[in-house]
Amino acid sequence: MRCALSCGHIPVDITGVESAPSQDFDAAMMREALSLAAEAAASGEVPVGALVVSGGTILGRGFNSPISACDPTAHAEVLAMREAASALGNYRLVDCTLYVTLEPCAMCAGAIMHARVARVVYGAADPKTGACGSVVDLFAERRLNHHAEVTPGVLAEECGGMLSAFFAARRFRQGGDGDAED
Ligand SMILES: [Zn+2]
Repeated sequence: MRCALSCGHIPVDITGVESAPSQDFDAAMMREALSLAAEAAASGEVPVGALVVSGGTILGRGFNSPISACDPTAHAEVLAMREAASALGNYRLVDCTLYVTLEPCAMCAGAIMHARVARVVYGAADPKTGACGSVVDLFAERRLNHHAEVTPGVLAEECGGMLSAFFAARRFRQGGDGDAED
């Protein structure tokens, strides 16, 4: 069955595979997000990668690029959602899952809510700006009207390790002694 928007997107039953995907599928998608994060690192950006997936299909990809894009909103999640929305021809991503290597910030959590993303899967927690429980938990805020299901900690070690390696290398290049603020 095709969706009513004639966009070629095949709707999925959100009580089925999308809401209860296998851990293997989540891990496979997170590995894809990690490869996007590596692209960010290669261009000197903090390595964060994101994907939007629906019905087993990747609809959008993004990696963190605020410096190169001169755009404070160019976080991996925002770019992946833009691409997915364009692919679907719909500003809402209702039956989609967003995979991201780092816990989303408040800006991205807001965009995820506006997009009506059904599920968020993230890798490493972000104790400085995480808005899914680390600093605040916007998805648990009952006064906000959309609540994505959140799955934390998928490939958390790999995701966090890529960030740690990036910051360690940057401190080394800057001749710091390892205690610089990121
Ligand atoms: Zn963000």
